[in-house]
Amino acid sequence: MQCSATSAEKNISYAVQHQCPQCGAPITLGEETRFFVCQFCRVRSCISQKGFPRYYLPRAPQVPRDVNLIYLPYWRFKGVRYTCTASGITPRFTDISTLAVADMPPQIPFSLGLRSQAMTMKLIRPDTRGEFFRPLPSALVLKEKTVGLNPEEPTFKEDIGETFSLIYSPFYTRQQQLVDGVTNQALPLEKAMTPDLSNLDRVRPGIETHFIAGICPGCGADLGGSGDSLVLVCRNCHCLWRARGEKLAKIRFSAAAPAHKDDIMVPFWRISAQISPINLSSHADLARMANLPLAIPREWEEKPVHFWSPAFKVRPNIFLRLLGQITSAQLEPALSQTIENNVYQPVNLPASEAIQTIRITMAALLKPRKEILEILSGTDVVPQSVSLIFLPFKSTHHDIIQPDSGIAINKNALALSGNL
Ligand SMILES: [Zn+2]
Ligand SMILES: [Zn+2]
Repeated sequence: MQCSATSAEKNISYAVQHQCPQCGAPITLGEETRFFVCQFCRVRSCISQKGFPRYYLPRAPQVPRDVNLIYLPYWRFKGVRYTCTASGITPRFTDISTLAVADMPPQIPFSLGLRSQAMTMKLIRPDTRGEFFRPLPSALVLKEKTVGLNPEEPTFKEDIGETFSLIYSPFYTRQQQLVDGVTNQALPLEKAMTPDLSNLDRVRPGIETHFIAGICPGCGADLGGSGDSLVLVCRNCHCLWRARGEKLAKIRFSAAAPAHKDDIMVPFWRISAQISPINLSSHADLARMANLPLAIPREWEEKPVHFWSPAFKVRPNIFLRLLGQITSAQLEPALSQTIENNVYQPVNLPASEAIQTIRITMAALLKPRKEILEILSGTDVVPQSVSLIFLPFKSTHHDIIQPDSGIAINKNALALSGNL
């Protein structure tokens, strides 16, 4: 099987055209948007994403209405790839898309990024007309991308994702020529090369994106949240909600009490996990393996180790530093389930992605690095429990600072939106 060629693309932003579920008005949102207020009817809605979204690129206006559109699938991944080698951990923004059908002639764009214009996508709905081809498995297609990206043999890598989607691009035939439906240009195919699309597998893309009314299921009050927040807050009945399937589900959280009304509440995922074959189960194990320069108190032998990850997106170098610092600190603040009037940093990194940070954290902390890296590539991480914890950070002129650990985050690196 011939696999499509590869390319790395720089931060392409796609817009998505939705319809307000209340009044039907067209609304153009960023791909990462999970919560919005309709500017026409003021109704709040959450976008619930179960698996990955299935989008299509609309046809050019010149494409005749009556043609039979066929849609070719592209997988798209946008996120940060952390490559861990003996010389260190290198985070790199990755934004790639690849044609997800094999054996296509080279004239068919192998990547969406080769199109120059900014594109607006639409969600595939049950009534979207056209023939959709079944994509090859994403792992098979996107794996090809890693070849040649890093000449140094990586010991292992983790992708911490932002966006993973399936995007369909329209084509049609005109006088036995294949025409790109986005540009309305015929592809310069030699006749002998014209792909036989008739025997490709068709599929009706599943619907895994749902709209949910942005009101508290508990008390009916309006929920609050920033556009890309996965967690919405009801400040009336003091609870947090997240979209799950076609409903909102209450999520459990804990918070350490802020000392001051100006403290910023910063969300973290605290994860306990079974790690094998490395024996890293207690706070004392961590201190020994990370070579922390201090005497290890006896009670640390009994204290289970927790991995901590920011529950928010931040520049990769800062994210990497925070992983190491917050996990080394093994904080044990007094926790309660209270929502304060303080500013909350939005939760926009899901727990599933946080679990993937564990091996990165180990690579960053444990020593000697060379030996650890060899073990880590074959290490299994089985999460046991994940909790959402808000820690108050003291607000200073340039930074916010966690008082117990001294961990500082530059304010410019955070989008302090003033709400969850
Ligand atoms: Zn509306
Ligand atoms: Zn409520």
